Amino acid sequence: MPGTREWRRTIGASLRPNDEQRLRAGRRDGPPATLAFDSRPLLNDREERPNAMKTTLRLVLLMSLLAGFGCAKKEGAAAPADDHAGHGHSSGHAHQPLMGGMLVELGEHQFNLELKYDPVRGVLQAWVLDGHAENFVRVSMGLFDIQEAGGAQRTITLRAVGNPMTGEKPGDTSAFEGEARWLGDVAHFDGIVKALKVRDLEFRGIEFHLHPKG
Ligand SMILES: [Zn+2]
Repeated sequence: MPGTREWRRTIGASLRPNDEQRLRAGRRDGPPATLAFDSRPLLNDREERPNAMKTTLRLVLLMSLLAGFGCAKKEGAAAPADDHAGHGHSSGHAHQPLMGGMLVELGEHQFNLELKYDPVRGVLQAWVLDGHAENFVRVSMGLFDIQEAGGAQRTITLRAVGNPMTGEKPGDTSAFEGEARWLGDVAHFDGIVKALKVRDLEFRGIEFHLHPKG
């Protein structure tokens, strides 16, 4: 790992012009933001131009933001602007969410919690699923909390919701939701499920990383 100063110069000198635009445009449209490095020799101090400096500063700021939201730290320091494709199971066998959200494993393949942000209603939705994410699991708890890890440590309280189609009702449902309009402004969310009771098992302090915008 080169020193910070040298690293900044490396990034600034090797950024292609449209990479920065893609990074600033975010991930919503088009391909994930990734940094492309080329093999041109690095500029030395004398060749460094003023606009290259500006690019460097903006990029360093962007990288700090990304790192601050915790993506890089979970996926290795070698890829500071990774596209997050590695989120999820790393053990080799993957499960598909049932509702188009993201799965958070509870215990060792015991259960899953699927999380999905609904930007229209501004609510975070959650469903309790079985160990292979194939079936909904009804639980008796009435609510549970998710806390933002770091930052303002905001709390989202998710309450049991019923569904006339399935006959589920609070106290006997797999579905929960909580108001969290502010999640719509967040690209990367590190959260902690404070405590969950599923059947006779209790799960505490489950950390996850969610992209509310999908
Ligand atoms: Zn992320």
